[in-house]
Amino acid sequence: MESLLTLNGKVALVTGSTRGIGWACANVLAQHGATVLLNGRTNADLLHARVEEIKSKYSIEAEGLPFDVGSPDAVKESYGQIFKMFKRLDILVNNAGILDDNLLGMVSPQNIAQTFRVNVEGVILNMQYASRLMARNRSGSIVNLSSIIGRVGNTGQVVYGSSKAAVIGMTLSAAKELAPANIRVNAVAPGFIDTDMTRQLPSDKYQERFASIRMKRIGTPQDVAKAVLFLASDLSTYITGQILGVDGGMII
Ligand code: NAD
Repeated sequence: MESLLTLNGKVALVTGSTRGIGWACANVLAQHGATVLLNGRTNADLLHARVEEIKSKYSIEAEGLPFDVGSPDAVKESYGQIFKMFKRLDILVNNAGILDDNLLGMVSPQNIAQTFRVNVEGVILNMQYASRLMARNRSGSIVNLSSIIGRVGNTGQVVYGSSKAAVIGMTLSAAKELAPANIRVNAVAPGFIDTDMTRQLPSDKYQERFASIRMKRIGTPQDVAKAVLFLASDLSTYITGQILGVDGGMII
């Protein structure tokens, strides 16, 4: 019997996948045989290098799609390219996201608009185009990156937290809407993961967050990628509309 973890023949797009959690997700999907579409926004050389690296590491097919997840025209054009190249999409990992912490009193309209453009509109747009491609095969899995902050909140994270709570809301609604087409939609809600995003924290904030992790270690991008693999693969064929915490017990 073929392994339930095999992704041979599947095409997966991971947004924001040149570093951090996105890069780890792309690697774990490639390791299990998927054709991987990497996405980056600004650094074409890095995207190209990542595509070559993942192809040679896992002997799989890979392509780089440079687009800004929050730009409706760029998203439309990129999914047109996916259709031209592969005629299908089986897995979407909506990973690209930004963090711009400010106390409520310091939040600016630009801060709100930019965060929501990427973290909220970007995820909705990608779900929209991906689900159209997935519906052609009546099969697909979408995994959205929310955050523990979208569930429990945090000082200085009103904007980011509300964008990640929105990811939970859209995951639940899309899961209901797309279930009849056999497209599953789930989210992972990471806690405190060691990436560029968290390395920029001032040391007192870093220590404060670290202290609330019950497993007493910071999470790795691979910890998150393994949960994404589960939700993307046939190990979770009857699971949709779920928010899976990957936080070392931070939420309990
Ligand atoms: P990161 O900053 O290391 O990587 C984010 C990636 O997204 C980068 O490659 C960046 O270039 C890309 N990106 C940003 N805006 C984009 C856009 N408009 N279009 C295309 N790509 C864009 O962050 P990370 O820690 O790897 O986070 C990945 C996801 O996980 C994010 O959605 C984040 O909110 C979420 N998350 C992270 C943590 C954590 O502790 N690191 C915790 C909870 C949730």
